[in-house]
Amino acid sequence: MFITFEGGEGAGKSTQIRRLADSLRRAGHEVLTTREPGGSPGAEALRHVILSGGAEAFGVRMEAMLFAAARNDHVETVIRPALSKGFIVLCDRFIDSSRVYQGVTGNLEPQFIDALERVAINGVLPDITLILDLPADLGLARAKARSARGSGANEAPDRYEREEVETHETRRQGFLDIARDNPDRCHVVNAAGDPDQVARDILAVVEPRLAS
Ligand code: C5P
Repeated sequence: MFITFEGGEGAGKSTQIRRLADSLRRAGHEVLTTREPGGSPGAEALRHVILSGGAEAFGVRMEAMLFAAARNDHVETVIRPALSKGFIVLCDRFIDSSRVYQGVTGNLEPQFIDALERVAINGVLPDITLILDLPADLGLARAKARSARGSGANEAPDRYEREEVETHETRRQGFLDIARDNPDRCHVVNAAGDPDQVARDILAVVEPRLAS
């Protein structure tokens, strides 16, 4: 089972991945947690290049291709092998981040994003995508507080801190549009509230799927 977590900055993806992994392991499942950009040695090397340079250095088209190269390495060397050994794979960001960050707010044509996606994932589509949804201003406040504490996974906070809140709200809408268009795969979870409640809501989506 392949489960991806998506959402804007400060949505709490890393916390919720950790919590879901703990719950699933307690229930006896073998779980692999991973993240994008990165997740394999080759893709982690590209993560550094992408996050330190980004669209400003390369242009959004090249940035999207770097994300796709990193994703393909991650899929072929980590995700597909783990799935074939029966692991539940939990991944922090995947195709929908590309659709939203490079497609919606990067203004790349959907055909270009789709073509890169096909090559990158080579048939490995998520079974479940959890879209952690919250108002952009709340997510940004959380993300800024986290980077002021020097904690958290995002080592390039200036990538989003310089953007307008409207850009983040546009991304939020982009994720919600993907959820609406892919109801079998995507589940929107209210991420604005208490982390315990968010964790319970996520389990309520995942557990029935594991039982079926
Ligand atoms: O998930 P996390 O916040 O650690 O993501 C790292 C950064 O990469 C984020 O700031 C996000 O804006 C960026 N990103 C991106 N396009 C993607 C995936 C992530 O711009 N497809």
